Amino acid sequence: MSDEQHQNLAIIGHVDHGKSTLVGRLLYETGSVPEHVIEQHKEEAEEKGKGGFEFAYVMDNLAEERERGVTIDIAHQEFSTDTYDFTIVDCPGHRDFVKNMITGASQADNAVLVVAADDGVQPQTQEHVFLARTLGIGELVVGVNKMDLVDYGESEYKQVVEEVKDLLTQVRFDPDNAKFIPLSAFEGDNVAEESENTDWYDGEILLEALNNLPAPEPPTDAPLRLPIQDVYTISGIGTVPVGRVETGILNTGDNVSFQPSDVSGEVKTVEMHHEEVPKAEPGDNVGFNVRGVGKDDIRRGDVCGPADDPPSVAETFQAQIVVMQHPSVITEGYTPVFHAHTAQVACTVESIDKKIDPSSGEVAEENPDFIQNGDAAVVTVRPQKPLSIEPSSEIPELGSFAIRDMGQTIAAGKVLGVNER
Ligand code: GDP
Repeated sequence: MSDEQHQNLAIIGHVDHGKSTLVGRLLYETGSVPEHVIEQHKEEAEEKGKGGFEFAYVMDNLAEERERGVTIDIAHQEFSTDTYDFTIVDCPGHRDFVKNMITGASQADNAVLVVAADDGVQPQTQEHVFLARTLGIGELVVGVNKMDLVDYGESEYKQVVEEVKDLLTQVRFDPDNAKFIPLSAFEGDNVAEESENTDWYDGEILLEALNNLPAPEPPTDAPLRLPIQDVYTISGIGTVPVGRVETGILNTGDNVSFQPSDVSGEVKTVEMHHEEVPKAEPGDNVGFNVRGVGKDDIRRGDVCGPADDPPSVAETFQAQIVVMQHPSVITEGYTPVFHAHTAQVACTVESIDKKIDPSSGEVAEENPDFIQNGDAAVVTVRPQKPLSIEPSSEIPELGSFAIRDMGQTIAAGKVLGVNER
């Protein structure tokens, strides 16, 4: 990977509209499949008397990953354009996609919406667009895919574009902020090269559009937030909390506070890859030492921040959640474990305030008695032990969570507001 800027890209859209095929095509066209792997596959193909199998190879591999990919891990595919190193959040399985996006496992910066030209807007198209908006996706590139199946017809293309524009307007996504491109992921039209089959189209091709996406804002402007993963005692240094800087900057000499443990002190040393460094930035995994803070004063799940702008600790918080796999229904009083950054805390759903229509984002019902699989809702939550968490609108990196119970992820959500202790 180069030192180009990084982007997480979500590929969203209705099942079978061609998301995986498009991912395969992007990897293939950008040369992101190792040469020796392609060579090997070519030889095998030639032995069997079939040529042009490179692209098929990529697809086979993705299919395999998909079969394995029932866990919380998503298949991370990477490719580069002139401007960006992209990590694709490939999301063929609707549930995994929702879960991973919301828990911020790989928070997407921008998204490609795939809509098949021969099928138009479908239920998952609507849901994904709504979720993308809820979760703060910046820009949408809309690939009208499978143009080969409609003989590359301009009128068929335009009809799908209109359907998608209506949908975007419904969920209050400005259609002017979306780019529309006629594609065939399978044949490769308008992905890496302008297609001769769509003379009537003179806009950007897909790789251009991706290359020209706005850069994600680096979270260095936000205050320091460093969730603690572990706390070690190292001879000669003392107590060393370790974790990843999510936002802001950690400098030696800073006065920092750990919440909810509520202890503070001055940063003496910061270490990264076994070397002392003067400061650490978002994405850096560090160990550091704070004057006067001992091993038993802090723990995993604490968040380190500036002493004069400490991490919020919630008495209660309001959140928007999406229920993914609960065997029955969720009612008031439900107390599962919330996983937020490095913290795991039992929290009670104190009230279910609103049910939300996932296709439009409108309130579907005030104070519903229960919610179940597929429902989106606004709920008020009371942590049973102190929990540091932030409104997603202020610090998205610390504003999302997964709800787990009975060994599986039941729901995921993002924090709308925090009532501090
Ligand atoms: P996903 O569920 O959205 O990931 O869809 P897939 O990528 O698995 O594609 C579903 C089916 O559509 C597969 O049989 C693909 O071969 C086919 N497909 C995908 N893109 C195209 C395309 O551009 N043209 C045609 N004709 N078929 C396509």
